[in-house]
Amino acid sequence: MLAMNYRGPQRVRIDHKPMPEILHPEDAIVRVTRSCICGSDLHLYNGNVPDTRVGSTFGHEFIGVVEEVGADVHMIKVGDQVIVPFNIACGKCVFCKQGLYGNCHESNPEATAVGGIFGYSHTAGGYDGGQAEYVRVPYANVGPTVIPDWMHPDDAVLLTDVVPTGYQAAEMGGIQPGDTVVVFGAGPVGIMAARCAWLFGAARVIVFDHVDYRLEFVRNYAHCEAYNFKEIDDPVVFVKRTTDWLGADVCIDAVGAEAAGSAMQTITGRKLLLQAGSATALHWAINSVKKGGIVSIVGVYGPTGNLIPIGNVVNKGITIRANQASVKRLLPRLIEHIKNGILDPKAMITHRVPLEEVSEAYHIFSAKLDNCIKPVLIP
Ligand code: NAD
Ligand code: ZN
Repeated sequence: MLAMNYRGPQRVRIDHKPMPEILHPEDAIVRVTRSCICGSDLHLYNGNVPDTRVGSTFGHEFIGVVEEVGADVHMIKVGDQVIVPFNIACGKCVFCKQGLYGNCHESNPEATAVGGIFGYSHTAGGYDGGQAEYVRVPYANVGPTVIPDWMHPDDAVLLTDVVPTGYQAAEMGGIQPGDTVVVFGAGPVGIMAARCAWLFGAARVIVFDHVDYRLEFVRNYAHCEAYNFKEIDDPVVFVKRTTDWLGADVCIDAVGAEAAGSAMQTITGRKLLLQAGSATALHWAINSVKKGGIVSIVGVYGPTGNLIPIGNVVNKGITIRANQASVKRLLPRLIEHIKNGILDPKAMITHRVPLEEVSEAYHIFSAKLDNCIKPVLIP
């Protein structure tokens, strides 16, 4: 079969690989019909995730048709069209039982933090991902969810990650009616977080990024304010000034590790001096939230510390909430929101690219060319 093949930082290509096989009675084999590239894949692509091995196939945002099931699979059957959550979750461990599917203990027993994730390095279990024609789906009674007849496949594929992640970012923020919410990052996750902030009762939603076409998109799509942080003196002062110097009620970090690089390029010489490996958006979030406010982090970071201003966290009495999204927990309510027209995620898909052109698709998404918000690979 054809599959994306990682060759080293910023080098991916399409290759032939052996077909995946059922290795356990609860496995299924899914023929992929759509597979997105995620901002999280860019951390892998740029070589920033430990133990990302040459030869691995990325892809944790895919839907497809069930081709084969193991002897113990009873929740899905051959021919079903399924949404496959990015978390690989056993459904039975102490964490899955609490709805913490992103922290499953069985799917990645050697790791202390994250559970298994499709196509996300050996730190996330070493599973091959879905940027391929076929993929093995472990614990197939737990994650895969049959796509409702009425649902557009582009909406379905965004339910594997971006929609639940953006929603959970807003949910973790504990947004109260009337709150001012600031979202850092206008990638697909930040866009969805901004959109979902209204569902929790936000009175004002402000987004920061430095890519103008994304700012324009989020302004229209999420009906929010959106500012280029390169064009304002200091986002923290900006937020303070616009909130009677109190700060935002809730700040969301939808950037993650990328912030270090962009900060080095954009704010050198200004008063916030950061070292490589630190997290600009997270600094801004902590410094612009009000005393007693909540900072919700869904941006992905490496395992080491990111030099966050922990003193400010303590002295301001900030609550930090963070996690990988628990896709399975959120799917029922998000499917309802799409059905009722409250959420329209497919509008974020700007590029439909044949799987064979995976290298080009990574380049466009990574370099933010051609007004790219979200590319989907079609095998
Ligand atoms: P993306 O790369 O498309 O978007 C990130 C955006 O942040 C870009 O538009 C970039 O210009 C902007 N940015 C960079 N530095 C910034 C700064 N200092 N302030 C504000 N904006 C800045 O990625 P995405 O797909 O939207 O994902 C966003 C983050 O969420 C990534 O870190 C990704 O790994 C993470 N993620 C987490 C989960 C989860 O379950 N927790 C799931 C999916 C993605
Ligand atoms: Zn993703």
